[in-house]
Amino acid sequence: MTPITRREFVKGVALTPLGLTSVGTMAQQTAQASGDRFDIVVAGAGHNSLVTAAYLAKAGYKVLVLEGRPVVGGGAETTSATMVGFKDDLCSTGHTGIQNNPMLNELKLRDYGLEYLFPDPFFHMPFADGSSFTMWRNLDRTAAEFGKFSKKDEAAFRRIYAEYQTIGPALEANQFLPVGWGKPMNELMAGIPRLGLWQRRMAMSAWDNICDNYEDEHNRNFLVTLALLGPLTDPIYPGTGMSAFGTAALLKWGRPCAKGGAGQLTQALARFIEAHNGVIEVNKPVTRLIIENGKCTGVECADGSTFHADKAVLSTIHIKQLVNMAPRELWGQGFMDGVDTWKEEQGSIFAGNYALKEAPQYGGPHSAPAVMISPNPTRVLLNGYDIGVGNANFDEPPMLAECLTVIDPSRAPAGMHTLKLMSCQPYSLKEGPEHWDKIKKQVADAQLKYLRRFAPNLTDDKILGEFIQTPLDIERMNPAFWHGSVHAGAGGASQSGAMRPVPGWAQYRMPIHGLYQTGACTYPGGSISGAPGRNAAMVMLKDFGTSIEQVVDKTESKKT
Ligand SMILES: Cc1cc2nc3c(=O)[nH]c(=O)nc-3n(C[C@H](O)[C@H](O)[C@H](O)COP(=O)(O)OP(=O)(O)OC[C@H]3O[C@@H](n4cnc5c(N)ncnc54)[C@H](O)[C@@H]3O)c2cc1C
Repeated sequence: MTPITRREFVKGVALTPLGLTSVGTMAQQTAQASGDRFDIVVAGAGHNSLVTAAYLAKAGYKVLVLEGRPVVGGGAETTSATMVGFKDDLCSTGHTGIQNNPMLNELKLRDYGLEYLFPDPFFHMPFADGSSFTMWRNLDRTAAEFGKFSKKDEAAFRRIYAEYQTIGPALEANQFLPVGWGKPMNELMAGIPRLGLWQRRMAMSAWDNICDNYEDEHNRNFLVTLALLGPLTDPIYPGTGMSAFGTAALLKWGRPCAKGGAGQLTQALARFIEAHNGVIEVNKPVTRLIIENGKCTGVECADGSTFHADKAVLSTIHIKQLVNMAPRELWGQGFMDGVDTWKEEQGSIFAGNYALKEAPQYGGPHSAPAVMISPNPTRVLLNGYDIGVGNANFDEPPMLAECLTVIDPSRAPAGMHTLKLMSCQPYSLKEGPEHWDKIKKQVADAQLKYLRRFAPNLTDDKILGEFIQTPLDIERMNPAFWHGSVHAGAGGASQSGAMRPVPGWAQYRMPIHGLYQTGACTYPGGSISGAPGRNAAMVMLKDFGTSIEQVVDKTESKKT
């Protein structure tokens, strides 16, 4: 075997985009050589903006996508960061939220190389006393896991799962529709049994709901760790209540992962766009919006190149940065108030990617690609407190360890494995975010040390390469992860629904005529759901005199 060198904590390394070079290079030549005019210019190539671009390209518009980084995909990208031959997801891996998106079928992304794997079991949690909890895509098997520790908890899980079948569809009904396009919530909720109880639960904290319904410490540990590591918010906060019931919602899909890496989603979208006459350029950070007669008519990039859009500009640039790309007075006071008061997420992510000679072995009869570890619920609540006050977590931090090669060997050379190890950490340390550069190695070592308590086989000689990202590195990598917010900004009542991104501007149209916005800043928010992307396409296509239904039907689609 060819010897492979180990990469020490690499900062700003030139990553190898997997399978993307051809897309980027070809596209660059096409745009520059032809001097094309474009109907739509898209600033940023995260999965959401690529989804919007794909629908617009399918509708017959000439689309140009400009990505600031050397690779498209944003939080859905796969690179060889640890070592040549390993496919590392530097951001997302679990793509549960996108599974209900009609986009996957409407754009037939399978034809463009996207295949999802549905691991079962999908979550596992080993405990210090040698017992463990495993989550399956099966009600009885998962209920039995709760029952191992408490029959009362098993009954509680079955009861909550049954109740969730009535309220869940109502809560999820409008996710794939722009705000105001679907049935009003009170209409969707009408007739739901014990509605008042669920309204109360939503307003409560996740931890209170867990304690109200479950008694055993192991079960509570599993549930509260999930409630922290999913939304990256202190589970003791009022309004986090639904995070306590994540297990009921998760059973349907589990934690699906794209075969070959998360980047396969955005690669498939890029292929779709190019197959529909679109052009994609990488290494093109957009720095300025071009405004003519009050209308946004194009963008300027850091290298001085300009691109004109005959019809519209679509941005997925973070709103905090976007407002600096045009004269402030054009945004209007109301919009600026909303941007000025936009808050980052409470918690960010500290992530270590590793290239391994063997998979972590946790003991016990089962395991899963996604493994959570945490000493006890109190430790999770302390982590919640620490992200609020700016303390880094070194001591047994609750973590998610993902080893996808156990179900997808294509992600590593034969017999080898990938690992992504993540904890929830504050971006704004008490000493300031720059302090992350000083404590990076210390935190990475602390994470590995704690993981080894459960997977002692992961000795140093089993680790071939590593790539570590602090919350500050995550922002440096992708400016849309503003202040380490991997969902672009906090959720919660003040930045959700009609208030995302800004009250009065939840319709993907921006105050400057001709400018639209999608991505995690917009409704319904972050994660890999593609919902902001498809919703933005619905609004833009409507404004252009057609509809997403006509475009999907294609025979009806027409360019206006
Ligand atoms: C470590 C980590 C783990 C995660 N795990 C999961 C997970 O398992 N499941 C999940 O659902 N979510 C996960 N997330 C969150 C998820 O990745 C994001 O919420 C999601 O990627 C947001 O998608 P988006 O399309 O809105 O934008 P992004 O993915 O943020 O993409 C925005 C794109 O725009 C580009 N851009 C920004 N500004 C400019 C500019 N001025 N000019 C040109 N280009 C620009 C960026 O470079 C980027 O490519 C994770 C995130 C991280 C960091």
